[in-house]
Amino acid sequence: MEESRWRWRRPDESGPWTVSGWTAALTAGQLAEDGVTVAVTRPGPWGECPRCGRWAESWYAYLDLPPPWQLGDVGLGCTRAHACSDIPAAPGWLFVAEAVTRLLEAARPVFHAATAEWAAPRLERATWLAGQPPAVRRLANRLWTDNQSLSVADIEAAAGGILADARG
Ligand SMILES: [Zn+2]
Repeated sequence: MEESRWRWRRPDESGPWTVSGWTAALTAGQLAEDGVTVAVTRPGPWGECPRCGRWAESWYAYLDLPPPWQLGDVGLGCTRAHACSDIPAAPGWLFVAEAVTRLLEAARPVFHAATAEWAAPRLERATWLAGQPPAVRRLANRLWTDNQSLSVADIEAAAGGILADARG
C-alpha cells in the first residue's frame, strides 16, 4: 500500500523552508541525507489524476529544497501519495536535475527564454551536487543559500579542503 510510504505531518511553522500543507521526510537517497523533505498542498486544479484517473481536486507535491532553489511542483494527484508518485524511493540530485529539465520542456514558448535562464544554473548545480559527497553538498547548499550568485567553480574552491579529505 503506497500510502504507507509517507508519514505525513503538519509542518513545523518555525522551519525556514516550510510551505503550508503537509510534509513528510524522505527516507533514503541524497536528498534525505541533505535534509530535504516533501510537502503537499491543496488546492490544485480540478482534473483527472495522472496516476489513477480519478476526477478530483489535485494535491501538488513539492520538494522542500533549501533556498534559493524554488523548484516548483514535482507532481500532482488526487491524494497526497498520488501527487508524490513520481518521486523515487531514494531521490538524489539527479532527480532535481530531471525536474528542472521537465519544467523547461513544459514552459510555453513565450516564457521559454526566461525559464531557460532560470534553469541553466540549477541544472548545472544539481548535476554537480549529484556527484559530491554529503559534506560537500551540505556546504554547497549553505553557501548558495547565503549567496545565490556563486558559481560551481566558486563552490569547488571553497570546498577544496573537504573534497581533498573526502577523496583521501
Ligand atoms: Zn489518484
